[in-house]
Amino acid sequence: MSAQATAVGQPSTSAKKTRKRILTGDRPTGKLHVGNYVGTLANRVKLQDSYDTFLLVADHHMLTTRLDRLSEIEQNIRDDVIDNLAVGVDPEKVNYFLQSLVPQIPELHLLFSMLISVPRVQRIPTLKDQLRDHGLAQPTYGLLGYPVLQAADILIVKGDLVPVGRDQESHVELTREIARRFNELFAPIFPVPESLIPEMGLLPGTDGRDKMGKSLDNAIFLADDPKTVERKVMRMYTDPNRVRADTPGRVEGNPVFVYHDTFNPDKAQVDELKTRYRAGQVADVEVKRLLLSALERFLAPIRERRAELEAKPRLVDEILAAGSERARREAAATLHEVRQAMRLDYFGR
Ligand code: ATP
Ligand code: MG
Repeated sequence: MSAQATAVGQPSTSAKKTRKRILTGDRPTGKLHVGNYVGTLANRVKLQDSYDTFLLVADHHMLTTRLDRLSEIEQNIRDDVIDNLAVGVDPEKVNYFLQSLVPQIPELHLLFSMLISVPRVQRIPTLKDQLRDHGLAQPTYGLLGYPVLQAADILIVKGDLVPVGRDQESHVELTREIARRFNELFAPIFPVPESLIPEMGLLPGTDGRDKMGKSLDNAIFLADDPKTVERKVMRMYTDPNRVRADTPGRVEGNPVFVYHDTFNPDKAQVDELKTRYRAGQVADVEVKRLLLSALERFLAPIRERRAELEAKPRLVDEILAAGSERARREAAATLHEVRQAMRLDYFGR
């Protein structure tokens, strides 16, 4: 049990990894929405064949902002898994695990919390957003440490690539700092992970805010029925200066057109609509009707698949049990290396 076993320069168990590894996940704060899809789910599906993928339901992260709604957590976890499977995440290819079933993560979080200063985490831009969105005057100790816990999520399985939405960029940057710092101080155990962020940026909310969010009451959910989608689209925020159909409208930054660009595969139709909108030659209602058709073409098969999956009562439990088992094995191996590198491997730890 000496620290020599993982002396600097020695290969770590990560040398056993045959493929590059992905770590990504969701907070179980509700059903997933079309923003989650474009931000990260699409990349998960695309990359699950070529990467060894670990997908986490981050239930401990839900505690940072939603202590008032913990009775929903179990249902939210189930919805998260069903939504991911409904868009094509394949549990045969992906290790889908529950954060709280991997006790090595909080231990690694504790160790990482010694490597990073308080002002550094206070500067992370999402902190300000969270305080604003949840009407909080001060963060709890837990909320402040959220991105450090996320570093532990990623590094416990030695993730190389982290497909996430743009709002998570600063968290992956912190993870990179923590990995580098650990590797310098103790032993080169960790990869320095890259984020994979779609170029388009965050999908705006139906209310015109710059981010659609599960907790923000401005989302179109993958599970919404056609009537609900119609209601949300027809009430969507557009160009507020446009009072009549013959007023020239603004396309840039207008959520209705951002959604057209994202979900309407008929590019010629979108271009033509933009031209007419700028010239004041089309009513908002027509632009929205066409958006609704495009969204329905995208959502209908997901909804159908969701219903099939929901009919299998043990499915989610089995997937999470198997994925969490594999995640625990990986996590135990990583933590063993960490303790050795830090000389914390006393008393048989
Ligand atoms: P909450 O409001 O509860 O934080 P959320 O909608 O932000 O929920 P998360 O579970 O925090 O969802 O995030 C899951 C993933 O979806 C992350 O990778 C995040 O970056 C991405 N994501 C969330 N919202 C958007 C969005 N509007 N556009 C693109 N990606 C998004
Ligand atoms: Mg979020």
